[in-house]
Amino acid sequence: MSTIPVEVRLGAAPHNREDAVRAAGALLAQAGHIQHAYIDSLLQREKVANTFLGEGLAIPHGMVEDKHLVQRTGLAVLQVPAGVRWGDDAKQAHLVVAIAAATDDHIQVLRRLTRLMRDSALMRRLATTTDAGEIVRALTADDASGAAAAAGGAASTPALEDFPLGRELSLNYPNGLHARPAGEWARVAGRFQARVHVRCGDTVADAKSVAALLGLGAGRGAQLRLSAQGSDAAAALSTLSATIQRLGEEESRQAELSAARQAQAQGLGSELGDWQPTARHTFTGIAASPGLVVGTLVQAEGTELEVDDRFNSIAEEAAALDRALAAALAQLRQLAADAKAGGRAEQAAIFTAHQGLLQDADLLQAVSRQVVQRHGAAWAWRHAMAGRVAAQRALADATLAARAADLQDVGERVLRHLLGRGHESTDVAAWPHDAILLADDLSPSVTAQIDTSRVRGFCTARGGPTAHTAILARALGLPAVVAAGPGVLAGGSGDAAAPVLAGAVAILDGYRGRLYVGPSETALIEARERMERLARRQEEEARTRQQPATTTDGHTVEIAANANRADQAVKALEAGAEGVGLMRTEFLFLERDTVPDEEDQYQTYRAMAEALQGKPLVVRTLDIGGDKQVPHLDLPVEENPFLGVRGARLALRRDDLMVPQLRALYRAAQHGPLQIMFPMISTVEEVITLRQRMEAVRAELNAPAVPVGIMIEVPSAALIADRLAAHVDFFSIGTNDLTQYALAVDRQHPELAGMADSLHPAVLRLIERTVAGARQHGRWVGVCGGLAGEPLGAALLVGLGVDELSMSTGDIGTVKALLRRHSLAELQALAQRALQVDTADEVRALGAELRPAAAAQ
Ligand code: PEP
Ligand code: MG
Repeated sequence: MSTIPVEVRLGAAPHNREDAVRAAGALLAQAGHIQHAYIDSLLQREKVANTFLGEGLAIPHGMVEDKHLVQRTGLAVLQVPAGVRWGDDAKQAHLVVAIAAATDDHIQVLRRLTRLMRDSALMRRLATTTDAGEIVRALTADDASGAAAAAGGAASTPALEDFPLGRELSLNYPNGLHARPAGEWARVAGRFQARVHVRCGDTVADAKSVAALLGLGAGRGAQLRLSAQGSDAAAALSTLSATIQRLGEEESRQAELSAARQAQAQGLGSELGDWQPTARHTFTGIAASPGLVVGTLVQAEGTELEVDDRFNSIAEEAAALDRALAAALAQLRQLAADAKAGGRAEQAAIFTAHQGLLQDADLLQAVSRQVVQRHGAAWAWRHAMAGRVAAQRALADATLAARAADLQDVGERVLRHLLGRGHESTDVAAWPHDAILLADDLSPSVTAQIDTSRVRGFCTARGGPTAHTAILARALGLPAVVAAGPGVLAGGSGDAAAPVLAGAVAILDGYRGRLYVGPSETALIEARERMERLARRQEEEARTRQQPATTTDGHTVEIAANANRADQAVKALEAGAEGVGLMRTEFLFLERDTVPDEEDQYQTYRAMAEALQGKPLVVRTLDIGGDKQVPHLDLPVEENPFLGVRGARLALRRDDLMVPQLRALYRAAQHGPLQIMFPMISTVEEVITLRQRMEAVRAELNAPAVPVGIMIEVPSAALIADRLAAHVDFFSIGTNDLTQYALAVDRQHPELAGMADSLHPAVLRLIERTVAGARQHGRWVGVCGGLAGEPLGAALLVGLGVDELSMSTGDIGTVKALLRRHSLAELQALAQRALQVDTADEVRALGAELRPAAAAQ
């Protein structure tokens, strides 16, 4: 190949990633490889993609559309001996190789870079060498004498080994190491510079790679050896072991919870006795989610995606991959946010875990390697994913093998984007209104899109009771049978050529794991009788949900739901909500690649107001920033986004976002009692300015005024609540953020998040102060953070004088019943005691004084 010119700057010490990219870009510009404007393109790329390749190597490169700013192909290497942090996950780059690619010459360089990365010793040496020539040789020597020669002969990829410094532990996870904890391990390990390995039997995995960790096949009780090498190896080991231990406790709690739910489901299932309906085919699988339904079978999850190996250029394939990954990530974030907002925490966790799988450096490297060998991005992606899915499926541990569905699901999501079919899903609209879905292994994504007004349940050939599909089915409240065997897809005969069962009537028994296809008339009558009996029992249990939350001494607290969409609001009303206390509007921005216009927003808010049929609706204006990032807004990357331009701070700087939203809200307010609330308020000035802007928008529309509230989620706002109350109509306390800011604990911090305990007396004191401030001006106070939906939290909040609690739909029944069992005087006394203890644990202990359900019935 022709030799590519390489500029090298040794011993650089950039402050941060941006600084490093600028410096490397400046080297390229000085050498005449690029026009100066291309540096912005390099920075733009960093916003939309992580150019960190692994092993201390980052490869900033510009956006495809800016290629005209490249004058000739060249590389610039910034050597950063002390490392510079790359991205959010504490990865340190020591060699920043900026690429200006006018032609495809640099393919060789990329190929060499990926090869270089496999030689850790060489990479370490290049990070500190004082000989620029050594770096140039490593990057440009031809293949025969190439990188390996520069390394002094280490040619092939070494299998991973244990490092001398290590410790043993046994895995105390009831369901083995699956995607959620593996994601957490990788995140924690990724924060350290040290290399961290995990051995399980003969396999050793890089602890920073989720896929590699999953590939260990570590089942319950597996003996692991963690080992690490590097300057902070000891700290990495102790932190990772502590994380593993802590997650073990959580995994056990989760397992107990699902066992308890199973037992509860069995209780209801006892209505079925030893009923044996007659049918043309009976399939026995595993009961994954309780319930009994009759419906029409539908073959869900369509055809395999066709992928041709079409290659354009490295830059184009890389750009296509970046776009697909960003789009898939945005979809997953949205799915997670929706699930969270809809009170389906488990479902949210699954989609969060899927995001982790997408960010897996190992996987991305595998794909990049195929791309540099001139394979199309779609082909390369499918190839890399297929290997991983097969390996996962082959694991001996059934629980872990079931995780293959997650990998497959994530893989297909990205693939659809690569094929320009990103927004396709299965043809849900064509399903009948009593669909029982049949699938090989229903993907979590399709499960999440299931419209429960059409789908009555599902049955899969594969899967297991702990697969995410099963978890999601329970979250959706749909009966499900899994692992019913391939016959469910092949007409019942086990013969793959036989006609599928689609279109047949069937009874699905999610209590006992059976699917009866083509039941007799008698069986159908019996099934309907049993369904009615079950429904009566469920109704009995739900009967009190619609009663108000009135304490025994006659004090009524308003109970609302956190809901983002009209269908969620309808469900919330059915579950006993008296309105929506928090509609998060970020979802409108997160679920698509462009900013929704005023009309789109108006339609959404109007639908929500109408769904509530005259019940109150509190809509929160955009809360972007912090944990809620919207790539297409192109906001600057912030070092500390939780303390940055977030929520109302962004609104105040971006009229283009705020004005259309306010206009849409004022218009929608004509269709129901809508109230507007601003997030992340920290000062009185913000409120005054926001109100002025609101007033201008209102006057322009000649619309009636609507009540205006603010979220109290920053300690300063709680402390000056008496002042803020003069300017607004109501407060809603966001305990999630109030807790993180009061205790200085990032609510997403993998290690500290447990400390972010909203029951901490400090948080309760801020709430007390907020209520007192509101009272001075006769304002009402709600709480829409997680604390409102916890039984003890709700009890304390009412005792502290809160007027409204807004929570996930699933929590409404329990909280209402609990409040009805107590007097306001009791709850006030309890709250006073909670204010006077030292720790959150002591507050939690007060929960023992609440009356249990049975005593009150
Ligand atoms: C909160 O902070 O408690 C809250 C309700 O807002 P979010 O969780 O959306 O930040
Ligand atoms: Mg908040």
